[in-house]
Amino acid sequence: MENECIGCGCTDSRACASGNEPCHWLEVDEAMGLGVCSNCPSHVEELRQRQANLAEFAKEEMSSGASAE
Ligand SMILES: [Zn+2]
Ligand SMILES: [Zn+2]
Repeated sequence: MENECIGCGCTDSRACASGNEPCHWLEVDEAMGLGVCSNCPSHVEELRQRQANLAEFAKEEMSSGASAE
């Protein structure tokens, strides 16, 4: 699965560029398929927030089902 930047929407195979340099991932969450590239450092917080929300959601899902730790 391709990872997509939540800031600008670039992906693994379609990196955006700043100057002549293609961007690279600052943070990437393979599970969500989302990341933040080097041109969007202001979105790192947002990605962390999404990860936290997802973790919270997963916890609730688990506690309502089997008693998994
Ligand atoms: Zn980006
Ligand atoms: Zn990019």
